[in-house]
Amino acid sequence: MVSRVIPVSPFDLVIFGGTGDLAQRKILPGLFRRFVAGQIPTESRIIGAARADMDDAGYRDLIRAAIEEHAGKHSADKDAVEDFLRHLSYVPVDAMGEGGWKELQELLVDDEERVRAFYFSVGPNLFGPLAEQLRSHGLAQRESRIVVEKPFGHDLETARALNEELAQHFYEDQIYRIDHYLGKETVQNLMAVRFGNMLFEPLWNAQYIDHIQITVAETVGVGGRGSYYDNSGAMRDMVQNHLMQLLCLIAMEPPARFEADAVRDEKLKVIRALDPVDPDQIVRGQYTSDGTCASYREDAENPASKTESYIALKCFISNWRWANTPFYLRTGKRLSGRASEIAIVFKETPHSIFGIDSGRHRNVLSIRLQPNEGMTLGVTIKEPGPGGMRLVDVPLDMTFADALGEQAEDVTDAYERLIMDVIRGNQTLFMRGDEVEAAWAWTDPLIEGWERRGDNPKPYDAGSAGPDDAAFLINRDGRRWRSIKG
Ligand code: NAD
Repeated sequence: MVSRVIPVSPFDLVIFGGTGDLAQRKILPGLFRRFVAGQIPTESRIIGAARADMDDAGYRDLIRAAIEEHAGKHSADKDAVEDFLRHLSYVPVDAMGEGGWKELQELLVDDEERVRAFYFSVGPNLFGPLAEQLRSHGLAQRESRIVVEKPFGHDLETARALNEELAQHFYEDQIYRIDHYLGKETVQNLMAVRFGNMLFEPLWNAQYIDHIQITVAETVGVGGRGSYYDNSGAMRDMVQNHLMQLLCLIAMEPPARFEADAVRDEKLKVIRALDPVDPDQIVRGQYTSDGTCASYREDAENPASKTESYIALKCFISNWRWANTPFYLRTGKRLSGRASEIAIVFKETPHSIFGIDSGRHRNVLSIRLQPNEGMTLGVTIKEPGPGGMRLVDVPLDMTFADALGEQAEDVTDAYERLIMDVIRGNQTLFMRGDEVEAAWAWTDPLIEGWERRGDNPKPYDAGSAGPDDAAFLINRDGRRWRSIKG
């Protein structure tokens, strides 16, 4: 299979926070892979901008090491690495002060038509100041765009304030709020499967779907970012953005076109149709030590913390398509496996012609985001051999690593795809300001509810599947969570 590389025009990309963790692990290795794919035009520049005092050579050394560690098989091509590094330069810039802005301006190509992208890979307290600095120093042109990382606000009020702050300096079509889950190959494939086949869409509703599960399970704890996480928790850190975005793509009506506003309008309608969630449909948990790792409270350095490292909830979308179809969402840290999956569980056939001995069977479409990105459709067939009509569920498996062979490595990272979308000016896979606000408008009352009641999260053992109550949440409906053994 030959991968198609869509060329882009030469661009200037400035990465604020260009020395940080995200830049080193994801952004620059991703850009390097796009460079190897021939997608970065020779005249393009990539400029690291951060607080550290270093020169171009020092920055290239830093990024060379980052590429070797994080860029996969292509980093073995030393000539390619050196060619890529020649596109890089570095300016020490202070987001909160005057230092470095003039030097940055001199580095950028003076051309109104040229795409300038500014990636805000810094703490959220700097998003507003950076936008203002770009405008006041004359760096923002009509072809400029900014890329904003999560967290996008802490609640509705702060998200709204941030939207307003950015809107003072940039138009909405210049603001790219990144949610890297939307850049994953499987997530886009979900849309291809839904809207590119006749097979699924007629069944994609309450009449044929029993329920939907969205799981993002991690084996790691909150580790080094415990104090940040303790102000956030699983609801703010994962559900409000990643899980809700996935839910929107599953639940939205077919947009007229695969274009930014058409898709985002449909996602917004889903968020606005979400019912409030009863407190007894939410289970919050906090991991305890299993003897080999620290407990959440130790990691967070807060012995009285009430922040959840796990959450499971059941919600409903009040519209014609999804009436009474439960969506079960769960995410947590220090769980027994690392697995992200969307499972569409279809209803049983209305009547079994094979009798009760054949068992009850359901088709499940499983969309795996990690590990082994891919999709599986569980279908029921006859168990081979004599002895009557016994039925068995078998997977129709499409694991990208198998289907795409060597190219699978090239589809694993969402960041590189999303950065190239920014350069191309395609906002389809980025969140619009009103979507973010609507998502907070749904989560805020849930969070306020448990904070007002002073609810304690349920303890669960590190390495387990989460609190027992989360199992009861779904079991009492006669259903069960899918396995999270990653
Ligand atoms: P980091 O702490 O590793 O890096 C922060 C960067 O910001 C550094 O380059 C630092 O020099 C720069 N910086 C700090 N203050 C500055 C100032 N006044 N002026 C100019 N530069 C300044 O952080 P990170 O982990 O790379 O995260 C960056 C952003 O991305 C954060 O908003 C984070 O929430 C978000 N994010 C990170 C990850 C991740 O995996 N690391 C994942 C998702 C989102």
